[in-house]
Amino acid sequence: QLVLGIESSCDETGLALYHSQKGLLAHALHSQVDLHARHGGVVPELASRDHIKRVLPLLNEVLHQAGAQRQDIDAVAYTAGPGLVGALLVGAAIGRSLAWALQVPAVAVHHMEGHLLAPLLEDPAPEFPFIALLVSGGHTLLVDVKGLGDYQVLGESLDDAAGEAFDKTAKLLHLGYPGGPALARLAQQGNPQRFRFPRPMTDRPGLDFSFSGLKTHALTTLRETPEDATLAADIARAFEDAVVDTMVIKCRRALRVTGRKRLIISGGVGANQRLREQLSLMGQAEGAAVFYPRIQFCTDNGAMIALAGALRLAAGDTENAGHIDVRARWTLEDLSALPMPA
Ligand code: ATP
Ligand code: MG
Ligand code: FE
Repeated sequence: QLVLGIESSCDETGLALYHSQKGLLAHALHSQVDLHARHGGVVPELASRDHIKRVLPLLNEVLHQAGAQRQDIDAVAYTAGPGLVGALLVGAAIGRSLAWALQVPAVAVHHMEGHLLAPLLEDPAPEFPFIALLVSGGHTLLVDVKGLGDYQVLGESLDDAAGEAFDKTAKLLHLGYPGGPALARLAQQGNPQRFRFPRPMTDRPGLDFSFSGLKTHALTTLRETPEDATLAADIARAFEDAVVDTMVIKCRRALRVTGRKRLIISGGVGANQRLREQLSLMGQAEGAAVFYPRIQFCTDNGAMIALAGALRLAAGDTENAGHIDVRARWTLEDLSALPMPA
């Protein structure tokens, strides 16, 4: 079965074709980063309008890549939330219309389920159950993934999401928008010995996170230290080390309390090289296997939505047939368990 995936929850338009036997056949992405950069953040109305312009050309592109026709599509999966309502509606309306015209099923996909399943696009793919660290622009979640649709949130951020903390700290270091990747690059030149930032909420039990204090810590350090050539890089390094270390501690704790032997990391911050390295080292020490999607599938993409749609379809997900419906807010725990297709 050939499943088309459409992602349009925020500032990336992503389309992909996933075949249930042959795997991923094609994917294409348009990022609106340049469109929003001069506003210093995503402007929802501009995002919606741009998605409208991009979806059909990207559809033609993935069909061309896969050497397929529209008529070959057996189902359409689209992101139904959480995200920006206007942006979501574009993918949902086009996805459902296309499915209706082709007389094939449409599958509404939870964006974070997409992130969570993205490592299954790789070889070797993790088997259920596993612990998922989902760290993106809007979310920081530790999830016990028992099976497809069977998710228990073990911990989350009480304030800023991980990616948001990277972006805000990057902004105060004048690194532009979105600053996460730029901050990570600058941190490579930083001296890890110069500043030591706190590891928030690691000295007490529990799996929740808090990142807004680190951003404040970065600001205070910047203000109180006389300017020198390496100050920004050293702050970037101290910030990154603190975030990475905190995540390593929480992931180790999650593996220990649940007894799970597999860990996956996904979402935009999962592209962070130091995080990937440190979590792999922790996994080795704990006897747990660690999985990541390739870097380009850590951030938003259509491939993860097509994959989630294909798995849901094979598991008989028909619960969301019907009208166009999207949700700005939607917790993973609202989903219900489905049998994993063989
Ligand atoms: P959500 O998935 O919660 O709705 P989103 O889709 O906007 O949010 P993603 O596209 O998954 O988020 O990730 C974008 C975030 O990842 C941004 O905050 C960006 O700064 C961050 N990011 C990307 N690459 C890196 C990196 N190498 N290091 C740190 N952060 C990064
Ligand atoms: Mg994005
Ligand atoms: Fe995302």
